[in-house]
Amino acid sequence: MLSQLTKPSVDTLQLDILIQKQIRIDVLRLDLIHPTISGNKWYKLQEYLKDAQQLGKSIILSFGGAFSNHIVATAAACSNLGFESIGIIRGEKPQILSVTLKDARKYGMKLFFVSREQYCRKEIPEEVWSYGPNKIYMINEGGYGVKGMHGAARILNEFDTRKYSHICVSVGTGTTLAGLAFASAANQNLIGVSVFKNNLQLKDQVNKLTVRTNFQIIHDYHFGGYARKTGELFEFMNRWFLATKIPTDFVYTGKLFYAVHDLVKNSFFDSGSNILIVHSGGLQGNRSLPVGALIF
Ligand SMILES: *Cc1c(COP(=O)(O)O)cnc(C)c1O
Repeated sequence: MLSQLTKPSVDTLQLDILIQKQIRIDVLRLDLIHPTISGNKWYKLQEYLKDAQQLGKSIILSFGGAFSNHIVATAAACSNLGFESIGIIRGEKPQILSVTLKDARKYGMKLFFVSREQYCRKEIPEEVWSYGPNKIYMINEGGYGVKGMHGAARILNEFDTRKYSHICVSVGTGTTLAGLAFASAANQNLIGVSVFKNNLQLKDQVNKLTVRTNFQIIHDYHFGGYARKTGELFEFMNRWFLATKIPTDFVYTGKLFYAVHDLVKNSFFDSGSNILIVHSGGLQGNRSLPVGALIF
């Protein structure tokens, strides 16, 4: 098992608007379980890594962009568990590696850069096979898949989560949302906030992983699209930090908390709702921002 993992804590938010609307919100702080193996990524990786171990594979290969939480989490988890790791990275090799990729390399990951077209086709460079095709275990981009879903389902086993009427999470591939739906009770409402602009296939992507239907995906809080950001988002993230002491990342959780706050304001939730927000981590990605954009 992985060392250095801390059990996630639960923070109850104290905000005037929640008293006004008679709503309770708890935040499950998966961002605190490990400095690099970001929250939900560790849960999604577990079942794949166990499978790889059982199959006797020694190299984990996966895919991601230059700032990918999944890539750096995979590199760190592999280094910790004694796997070698290979990252297929989208786009030409840059002059200066992103801090995320530098970290991945520090954890021993071998990086291979492929063009966007090759990446789309999930083409693997010839040289990779010289590591020994039989030793390699592949994990989808973002950990998407049934094993990722089963791993993410464990998030709701960390404590008694049956008391919540709503569980909210940020959505990329939908694997985490599917896992939460899988592990939830039928009367709980799962709300996923998509970080993509108009990714209307998401619902199908989730449906491929679980037969549960007690979830909805909200598409109105992408702030222009994946990894796009605005002054309004930064301002919210800073205000949110001052009000709650909870840091967020600009790709996933900043947009999630903005969305839930906005939905509360607009009376989307009935009074008496008891909401759990899953903070899925991702804070390492903020290192790509200009100094001073965020106060934390
Ligand atoms: C990857 C990621 C997500 C999205 O998870 P999916 O399972 O792909 O939907 C959400 N939050 C953070 C911080 C992430 O890194």
